[in-house]
Amino acid sequence: MAGSRRVFCLTIDLEECTLPQEFGGRPLGEEESLGLSEAGAHRLLKIIESEGIRATFFVTGFFTSKRPRLVKEIADMGNEVANHGLRHYGPVLGPSEPNGLLKSGEILERVTGGRPLGYREPRLRIGPGMIGALKRLGYAYDSSILPACVPGRYSRLRMRPAPFAWDCGKAGRLIEIPISATPILRIPAGWWWFRKNFGDRICRICFDAIWRLGLPVICNIHAWELSELPRMERVPAHVRFNCGPPSEAQVKGIIAHGKSAGVPYDARSGRENFKEYREIEFDRAHLGSWTGAALLDS
Ligand SMILES: [Zn+2]
Repeated sequence: MAGSRRVFCLTIDLEECTLPQEFGGRPLGEEESLGLSEAGAHRLLKIIESEGIRATFFVTGFFTSKRPRLVKEIADMGNEVANHGLRHYGPVLGPSEPNGLLKSGEILERVTGGRPLGYREPRLRIGPGMIGALKRLGYAYDSSILPACVPGRYSRLRMRPAPFAWDCGKAGRLIEIPISATPILRIPAGWWWFRKNFGDRICRICFDAIWRLGLPVICNIHAWELSELPRMERVPAHVRFNCGPPSEAQVKGIIAHGKSAGVPYDARSGRENFKEYREIEFDRAHLGSWTGAALLDS
């Protein structure tokens, strides 16, 4: 398994803010939807720089095409830039429409100079078949799974809350790096909404439990969380709650906790963390029963 060393990945979703659409409200104007994430990303980069750490940014093709200088800066600082789809909200770009995936990958490559290795489905709504499409297009890993139950959205309680490999048949395997949930109670401690609403203290306790089992902690943060969000049509209060300075303090808090817990942050990029998990000896007994589509259907 993963070994005893503690691994902590900050994974940051950087996208046009589409919260109103998710709740059936009127979309923000383009500049505002980009600006909320842009401002948050600058705050995150400051933290990353002052702490001397690295992170993985999942960026949409649309955001990248509108803010290429920022995305290039993120990559030049040694962070990993991975694919977060073409647009954050819109028609689902599944395996039958790999153009969304192809196009966003091309935009990222053109702007950063490197091919993205990882993928996270916008809003984590990955569907059957996408895993195979990622593998065919040369991706090394997916990080779209939150192995917990989110009422009204999805239940991934049958998925392992630990890195595992999807069986893609002849194409080989694709590594899955799930967002962290505790193994038994499935408390989604690595998920932005949980941290933001319940605070980083309970997350730290959960992270300790996850590390004790030799598993990595994968945190999910949205750049717009570090901006104070305006009132948005139909967006409930719990979504805006604690955004802005409280979220910024929480992110600093979990980084400080990781440091005090002995996480080897120095000079490791998100990409290096993921590379480590690509080299895990996966438990063969599990592989047969953890093939893609059946689980994603559940
Ligand atoms: Zn996202």
